[in-house]
Amino acid sequence: MAKAKALAQEQHYNFFHSVEQSFDKAAQFTKWEKGILEQIKACNAVYRIKFPVRVGNSIDVIEAYRVQHSHHKLPCKGGIRFSDEVNQDEVMALAALMTYKCAIVNVPFGGAKGGIKINPRNYTPFQLENITRRYTAELVKKNFIGPGIDVPAPDYGTGEREMSWILDTYMSLRPGEIDGYGCVTGKPVSQGGVRGRTEATGLGVFYGLRELCNVKEDMKRLGLEPGIEGKKVVVQGMGNVGYHAAKYFHEAGAKVICLIEWDGAIFNPKGLNPDAVLKHRKETGSIVGFPDAKSLKKNTDGLELECDILIPAALENVIHAGNAPKIKAKIIGEAANGPLTPEADEVLAKKGVIVVPDMFLNAGGVTVSYFEWLKNLSHVRYGRLGKRFDENMNIHILGQIEELTGKKVSEKERKFIAHGADEVDLVYSGLEETMHTALHEVREKFMEHKKIRDMRTAAYVCAIDKVGAAYEQLGIFP
Ligand code: GLU
Repeated sequence: MAKAKALAQEQHYNFFHSVEQSFDKAAQFTKWEKGILEQIKACNAVYRIKFPVRVGNSIDVIEAYRVQHSHHKLPCKGGIRFSDEVNQDEVMALAALMTYKCAIVNVPFGGAKGGIKINPRNYTPFQLENITRRYTAELVKKNFIGPGIDVPAPDYGTGEREMSWILDTYMSLRPGEIDGYGCVTGKPVSQGGVRGRTEATGLGVFYGLRELCNVKEDMKRLGLEPGIEGKKVVVQGMGNVGYHAAKYFHEAGAKVICLIEWDGAIFNPKGLNPDAVLKHRKETGSIVGFPDAKSLKKNTDGLELECDILIPAALENVIHAGNAPKIKAKIIGEAANGPLTPEADEVLAKKGVIVVPDMFLNAGGVTVSYFEWLKNLSHVRYGRLGKRFDENMNIHILGQIEELTGKKVSEKERKFIAHGADEVDLVYSGLEETMHTALHEVREKFMEHKKIRDMRTAAYVCAIDKVGAAYEQLGIFP
């Protein structure tokens, strides 16, 4: 156990270095000179804070971070995580991934990340609120938050509730700021959030992998049929991202044969229904013991099952040199940030596994955060202006067609054709378009260079080229 902890610590310690290693591997396929590459790679600003918070009868000194990896575009953007594994190296690595992620999906932000080193399970909601508000006040003091500066969002261990505390603290310290609602994303809809943000990362994972599965030549190479239906899927992590990814695969006809959580894993070769599993967890506190499923001895055994698509949607470094040779999946979809080490990448590339990298695949969250930020700056809900106009026009066009042809469509079809786009329709279609475009950009880069052997390297090349071009346009490197 102590050995495992030491290994985990060592791996955490190396996370930023892993990102640098992957970056360097890709940099050789770009045209940029050494100085520009060094600037793209470096973390621009690291803010480490320690502050006291009263917990019961004592005072806890809380360690927290905000890292702004790149200022090539502003604001900086990235989530805030609450976890007792948080450390500077991890936050720096995650901030760097945000820069590359935003570049790949053409979201005009620099990368950032925040972290508070706490296990949220050990605090009451009242204490968590105190911690979140104090952290926000510290960011305000140092000008590390604001709609044009740095915009946090949810990440591991945080959600809508924490985002609304951040918003409220920011607004009370910066009264009258007209665009203040854009200081944080992932807010509840009632507080300026956008419909579709909660499920965005999981849905983006689904859109990205579905589009890959539609590429006939890639599927042929893997010995798979095109399409999602019938594919055997394993998902690690039943948090917001993992649950939604599993749900969309299940609804599209895939078989979710195994779900893995920190306290156990359940398996059914006929497929599990993620909603039923979630309900079971709500009632019992764990996915283990779900009726109609077998529990695996070790939860990590689930990663090594025979399957078509493996989706790690929990934390970093779960697939490493130790278990990579035992992985049997044909496609790995990185829903989490950094679930594979560079050593695992090498092993899997040799085996011919397609690894769909995090910086593309989980970019749905930040993409919809971008939509939310735009909504906040424009002060109007998506669809408010056009929905009724479109509906009236659609009904009119349909009426004309029916009159000219003398035929009538069914009531169900009429409803479908007439429907004008709501906010959620526009958010989903914007997300789908973003994921499709980015997948093909990365895939084309992969196909174009004979020497690029994995999609991660191709994704880094796309990102480095875009960030490099932005620096060039800024005139920093004349
Ligand atoms: N925490 C998410 C990520 O890692 C979302 C970030 C955001 O929306 O800014 O991509």
